[in-house]
Amino acid sequence: MSPIVMKFGGTSVADLDRINHVADMVAAQAKESPGGVAVIVSAMAGETNRLVGLANGAAGSDLVGEAFDDEYDVIVSSGEQVTSGLLALALRRRGMKARSWLGWQMPMLTNQVHGKARIEDIEGNGFPEAIATGEIAVVAGFQGRTEDGRITTLGRGGSDTSAVAVAAALKAERCDIYTDVDGVYTTDPRIVSKARRIDRISYEEMLEMASLGAKVLQTRSVELAMNHGVPIRVLSSMAEPGQDNSGTLVCDEDEIMEKQVVSGIAYSRDEAKVSLLGVSNHPGIAADIFARLARSNINVDMIVQADSRGPELANMVFTCTERDSDLALSVLSEAKDQIGYDRIIVDKNVAKVSVVGVGMRSHTGVAEAMFDALSSKGINIQVISTSEIKISVLIDASYTELAVRALHSAYGLDAVG
Ligand code: ADP
Ligand code: ASP
Ligand code: MG
Repeated sequence: MSPIVMKFGGTSVADLDRINHVADMVAAQAKESPGGVAVIVSAMAGETNRLVGLANGAAGSDLVGEAFDDEYDVIVSSGEQVTSGLLALALRRRGMKARSWLGWQMPMLTNQVHGKARIEDIEGNGFPEAIATGEIAVVAGFQGRTEDGRITTLGRGGSDTSAVAVAAALKAERCDIYTDVDGVYTTDPRIVSKARRIDRISYEEMLEMASLGAKVLQTRSVELAMNHGVPIRVLSSMAEPGQDNSGTLVCDEDEIMEKQVVSGIAYSRDEAKVSLLGVSNHPGIAADIFARLARSNINVDMIVQADSRGPELANMVFTCTERDSDLALSVLSEAKDQIGYDRIIVDKNVAKVSVVGVGMRSHTGVAEAMFDALSSKGINIQVISTSEIKISVLIDASYTELAVRALHSAYGLDAVG
């Protein structure tokens, strides 16, 4: 008899009414689950943003890096502490046995990378045993602790990862992620009204969708689920009793009968394009530039190198997150003489739009359809990158929604009616 894991995001626990509704759902699930129930909660909607603002305000521009990050985690993790206690109380009021579990109490052990720590182990200090006695465990998501006792957080959206990690540790039957949409859609339903709910999506496609910007699941949670074989179901926390709420199952590719060539469209506005113009073109130059970026922990995404005004000079263009682009600018500007280039330009007014689908492995013409659809709307492509199951393009940010809608139609993903 395996336990069930349920996770509720910020909008699902936004106030006491919502928390009471969640408590009703958890109590009903507990009656049907002889293996027990663990619930993971996020902070109330908007609370983490408020806490981030407080931390930034206290630090000003004086404290950066190590002098800031460990206390940032102490502050921003507190939102989840509140909701775990509130939900435990709401369950007790319903006559259920329940208690809250904070990251340090379980403990949820992580590495020391404050602000985006990775889970290393759940020791389960009495935690599985408590669930086996029928006590509902209400776990504060998003938070962990290092081996030496400091509090960490798992990166924005990290409660999804807490939930999958708990499901893997408990060998749970399933990890149900309850949120404010009723499943994973072919694209963000908030920008394309014709988006369709997907019944089943493979771990691999979901991993690409999440890492390319679909924030319905944190990327790391999908990776963890894939590695541990945890089935994830994404469904609505707001469904009325009797309403269909089958959601989306994220599972192995071979459990999916109907495979699509393109399953979904993702977009990300958190992109910046860095162009180094007039770089002297000789072997080792790319290695030098990207080694400097790696030493500063800057994650580079797309890269293009092309000759400029003859073969002696090249232009080197790459993308990274907006936040990293500030650091990239200072690292590369400081090394201008050593690298040898004319000019550096950072453009934050760009977005990445991607099409994802395992069917691309065996079908041709997917890229052509993408470029056609974008050109028919007059959208210029600045950079392209591909993998086995995705094609991404960088475009002017003001065309993001237009591009997503055009691609959604071009691949026949629009809902009928
Ligand atoms: P929670 O607070 O429950 O963790 P999030 O806001 O993190 O919820 O994630 C849910 C949101 O993800 C939805 O409201 C939706 O706007 C967005 N989203 C982006 N892409 C998709 C997609 N392909 N399918 C479903 N939702 C998506
Ligand atoms: N509360 C955290 C955030 O807003 C974690 C989460 O919601 O998953 O990022
Ligand atoms: Mg989320």
